[in-house]
Amino acid sequence: MNSSVPTPSRRSVAIVGSTGSIGTQTIEAIADDPDRYEVVALAAGSSVAVLVEQVRVLRPSFVAVGDEAALGPLRDALRAAGIDHEVETAAGPEGLAECARRADITVNGVVGFAGLPVTLAALESGKRLALANKESLIAGGPVVQAARRTPGAELVPVDSEHAAVHQCLRANDRPERVSRIQLTASGGPFRGKKRSELEAVTIDDALAHPTWSMGPKITIDSSTLMNKGLEVIEANELFGSPAGALGYGLAIDDIDVVVHPQSIVHSMVTYSDGSTIAQLSLPTMKLPIAYALAYPDRFPVPYGAIDWATLGSLDFEVPDLESFPCLGLAFEAGRIGGTAPAWLSAANEVAVDAFLKKRIRWVDISDVNAAVLAAHDGGMGDTLEGVLAGDHLARRTADDLVNALGRSTR
Ligand code: MG
Repeated sequence: MNSSVPTPSRRSVAIVGSTGSIGTQTIEAIADDPDRYEVVALAAGSSVAVLVEQVRVLRPSFVAVGDEAALGPLRDALRAAGIDHEVETAAGPEGLAECARRADITVNGVVGFAGLPVTLAALESGKRLALANKESLIAGGPVVQAARRTPGAELVPVDSEHAAVHQCLRANDRPERVSRIQLTASGGPFRGKKRSELEAVTIDDALAHPTWSMGPKITIDSSTLMNKGLEVIEANELFGSPAGALGYGLAIDDIDVVVHPQSIVHSMVTYSDGSTIAQLSLPTMKLPIAYALAYPDRFPVPYGAIDWATLGSLDFEVPDLESFPCLGLAFEAGRIGGTAPAWLSAANEVAVDAFLKKRIRWVDISDVNAAVLAAHDGGMGDTLEGVLAGDHLARRTADDLVNALGRSTR
């Protein structure tokens, strides 16, 4: 694609988290439409070999690694590939953030809280943020809302449910006529199981998602329904009331979660006349990625279209909050507001990491999350320092709980 001639209509794109699931699918989506986009910045956490191969193919002018220790190996690898003179390098949170200042559109596919500086840099420089990193919006809520008011700043969600809601909301231009949002959930690999049946589940069981192909953190979150809980908070931040003119005057309890195992209906919006508008497509993340890049246009992309002859039936059921307490915890955190969502999200990052390292059981994840949320100190998080302090304290609280649990289960 680097051999094609740039035209003024090509929009520059930064992909932060380029070696992860969202990043690689963004690269594939752009490869399908090379005349419209030009990749000018790439960043990863520490996967230097894959990152350098992406640089070799896409030839961005800026590349960064989140892990400072990976900067030396990155420079060595670029030199070995003979392309070090073409590309500027940087590292750490500021390196990731700088990517967002170099492009018209930033795809934030970072995993976890580390995505916050990228979210803020894209919005504060008045650019489009194609947001796949829900944790930055959840943890940094008040700070991100302020950044969204920067002239030119535009947040288009890449999360499939929120991309669906974003599309459904375009069916009506009167914000006060929106009455409820329905987020759909596949239910994950343990749908229909009781809590007692979930005590001995393994990492492989939890990673076997029935419909979506995603990275390990979000796949575990899907198995606990924490992902849906975080998405409820995300929807409340994106479409709710706190940002005034940006919002639709909805509260967190105006959001419903509907279990829909086929993952065809990606979410819905119900209007004041009782009409519900839904967005349907095959479950591929490339479609919401292409939507966030192209919005308000729609480009002719080759994925997502449903074959109605083979679709079959669509089922809907209510979520089981007893087997999957993380979903209820998220509503609770959303109602508390302030840094409560940040505490829950940070606790969950620590707990999922501990589960993936076999230090705690799957059922312990929700227990850690519940205990950390119960310890929330009432912080408001309306400054970046407040958000960082809350994140730090929540992680320490979760670490202590994990260490105690780890000892007792070994
Ligand atoms: Mg989602």
